[in-house]
Amino acid sequence: MPQYYIWTIGCQMNKAESERLGSYLEQLGYQATDTAEKADTIVLNSCVVRQSAENRVINKLNALKALKKRQPEITLAVTGCLVNSKTDQLKYNFPYVDYFFKPGDYPPWLSKPELTPLLPRHPSPSTYVPVMQGCNNFCSYCIVPYRRGRERSRTVSEIVCEIKELVNRGAREVTLLGQNVDSYGHDLPDKPDLADLLGELNAIDGLARIRFLTNHPKDMRPKLIEAIARLDKVCEQISLPAQSGSDDILETMRRGYTVEQYRQLVAEIRNRIPEVALSTDVIVGFPSETEYQFQETVNLLTELRFDTVHVAAYSTRPGTMAARKLEDNIPLTEKKKRLTEIEQLQERIATEINARLTGKTVEILVEGKTKDKWRGRTRTDKLVFFSNDNNCLGQLINISVEKTSPWSLQGKAVKLK
Ligand code: SF4
Repeated sequence: MPQYYIWTIGCQMNKAESERLGSYLEQLGYQATDTAEKADTIVLNSCVVRQSAENRVINKLNALKALKKRQPEITLAVTGCLVNSKTDQLKYNFPYVDYFFKPGDYPPWLSKPELTPLLPRHPSPSTYVPVMQGCNNFCSYCIVPYRRGRERSRTVSEIVCEIKELVNRGAREVTLLGQNVDSYGHDLPDKPDLADLLGELNAIDGLARIRFLTNHPKDMRPKLIEAIARLDKVCEQISLPAQSGSDDILETMRRGYTVEQYRQLVAEIRNRIPEVALSTDVIVGFPSETEYQFQETVNLLTELRFDTVHVAAYSTRPGTMAARKLEDNIPLTEKKKRLTEIEQLQERIATEINARLTGKTVEILVEGKTKDKWRGRTRTDKLVFFSNDNNCLGQLINISVEKTSPWSLQGKAVKLK
């Protein structure tokens, strides 16, 4: 039986696409293997959103060169955001790679459209479903629109059909993926929006929970907030990248909203969904970010108290507007200092938010085991660990929370549902 090996880095979109690609190969009779050396087909699913990610992809490709030389009969392919529409340069740099194909496309040497849709054969209880590709926004620092192209939404009926099948195969929770889910559907003939899609998905029997990533503050509408509040399967968890607390930096980033508009959006969400958990992303050390502007970000995070903050130090991505027009002029030591300050602030805030759950009962969906403990997440995306001798995988279980940390909760099962 031929063997395949898929190496994946990057966001949930890449992980979802790799899972689907693996399932596709299995339908063709391939078997997964955990090392490149044993594989007949190797696929690297790449990410270039940061320089460090791109470096890892290049290192991996360089490491595979010797293997391909020893075994020229193996198929070596690269997909993900390293691959743009012009592959000439990539083919020149890596002549030993057999195929480069764009993210979300079918492997060109295998295409068998009758096997669509590509669905994981044994999905995890909580599984990802891409609902759109690409982005129309062109934030000045971001490479995604250049690599994944313009927004293309999948139809509501296709997504509903797919999720029904995933539920038949064991999924209980889906996370809908798009670079900007708030613009879902505008390119479809009848222009459904994300709220319409959520309404349809909420009616699927056997599906327990629905999440979605990632929102854009300039595009999130009251209709969507209303849908989250109203639909019982839609989890009270929203990712809303702020990126900066400074209006000047937001403008240079070309984000399309002000800090005040962002603040008002958060207030609207919390007013309508009081139990909501909010996560955000911020970039520190953006070109010319002053200490004052950085402190504006610190102040925003202190004021809004997010459940989770993903913080990254700015690094230039060749091909973006920021790379062409802005000088990466904040020293690395200063970027690291700012990053650490935000991490420490967030650790304090998350410690306080999570501590309030001690003694409370939370419902989790069990997703797997880590060492000897079961692992699941609350509707608000808190990671929870507990011990139990039964097979709890895929079950909704109530947990009495005994211990908390900034990163996770621990407790014991009080009732199997
Ligand atoms: S919204 Fe901005 S940061 Fe997000 S994918 Fe699109 S261009 Fe990149």
